[in-house]
Amino acid sequence: MKQDVNSLLEDMLQHIEKTILPKTQEAGQEQTCRICGCTWEHGCPGGCWWVEPDLCSACVDVAYPEGKP
Ligand SMILES: [Zn+2]
Ligand SMILES: [Zn+2]
Repeated sequence: MKQDVNSLLEDMLQHIEKTILPKTQEAGQEQTCRICGCTWEHGCPGGCWWVEPDLCSACVDVAYPEGKP
C-alpha cells in the first residue's frame, strides 16, 4: 500500500501547485501605465504613483488634457 500513499501525495502536490501557484503569479503581476508603459519597478523619472490601475501620475495630463473627469 506504500505506492498508493505516494501517488496520493503526488496528487495532493499537483493539486496544490495548480491552486496556489496561479495565485502567486497573479500577485506578482506588474502594473503597467497605458500611456508611458512604466511599471512599479521602473517608474517615470522623478517618480510617479498610480492614479488608475493602468495610469501613472506623470501621464494624467496626457490622458486627461482638460482635467480628470
Ligand atoms: Zn505613465
Ligand atoms: Zn510613470
